Amino acid sequence: MVSVNDIDRLFLQSILSRRIVSDKLFKLLWMKCKDAAKAVNPGLEVDVTETSDQLMGRMNKKLDPLNLEIKTIYDEHSGIKLYGLINGTGDPNAQLATSYTVSEIAFFKAIVQQIMLGNDECYSISSMAALRESNPIKPKMTKSQAEGVLNSFVTSGWLLKSSRGRYSLAPRTLMELGLYLKNTYDNDGYVECTVCMEILTRGTRCWNSPCQARLHHWCYDRFSKTRAEYECPRCRENWSLPANKERMIPIGEEAAKEGYDDLPRRRRADSEEEDEMEVDEDTEEERPQRKKSAPKKGRAAQAESEDEEPEPTQTQSSAQNDDEDEPSQPARRRIRRKV
Ligand SMILES: [Zn+2]
Ligand SMILES: [Zn+2]
Repeated sequence: MVSVNDIDRLFLQSILSRRIVSDKLFKLLWMKCKDAAKAVNPGLEVDVTETSDQLMGRMNKKLDPLNLEIKTIYDEHSGIKLYGLINGTGDPNAQLATSYTVSEIAFFKAIVQQIMLGNDECYSISSMAALRESNPIKPKMTKSQAEGVLNSFVTSGWLLKSSRGRYSLAPRTLMELGLYLKNTYDNDGYVECTVCMEILTRGTRCWNSPCQARLHHWCYDRFSKTRAEYECPRCRENWSLPANKERMIPIGEEAAKEGYDDLPRRRRADSEEEDEMEVDEDTEEERPQRKKSAPKKGRAAQAESEDEEPEPTQTQSSAQNDDEDEPSQPARRRIRRKV
């Protein structure tokens, strides 16, 4: 005889196959599973008053022994609530292991790093810059192999590709790798929305430097549309004045300016696992490294070529950071943000 447990099992299978669904689809799938069970067993009593979050809580009790969990996140662009099934580790090496090779995962992590450390919080990189990240990966990928892997990251829901051809982090990555992103980029790159406290990679920032207020687009809309007069939740500047509305600073692809991807790239000190992490003795904070820059033409040519040697490693270029005339990388970032 079909039971409520069968509805739950059918529902979990449908979520497992989709990984991430909208609030609307989450509830619809459960209703369809319920209807299918009712068709077989019309007398089956099912609680139809259950909300999506109650359903999620009930499912999570069943998933707990499997180290799986359903979590929610709001789509950064539309504000639509999403439900996603994630496993407890939150580490890219584990999350991508069933679909990708070790070198493809290294490629993914290198792209994520460039997205997280993008200039002016643009949280996106061009196709050429993304392909360039495959150069140091061993065994070496051809350009078409790297393009194929990049496409796969998009179709599997790890990355988004915009109409401008720029890659950014998709909701699946924000959700499944949220802990990894927080732990890896907490002092540099990882920012949260001032309103909902979730990770933010697209939205808007208070223009009143050095105020750190940042809001998702939809959080900003909700914040601004519910009142005639509103002020920055941090610095209390009046945001509702028409002149001030225009001064809000974009975060995400909108912030990406022409030529950003030709600038020297920033690296975390521990970005290559075989290298030792460097620590700034004064602050005891990790000191991000910067790769040696190459002329634009050389870089472009490098992305085209499949036979060229990989770029200089971090160790080879690290001497540049020791030059006393050069400000440290965190100082550069502060300068850039003030502009
Ligand atoms: Zn928010
Ligand atoms: Zn402010």
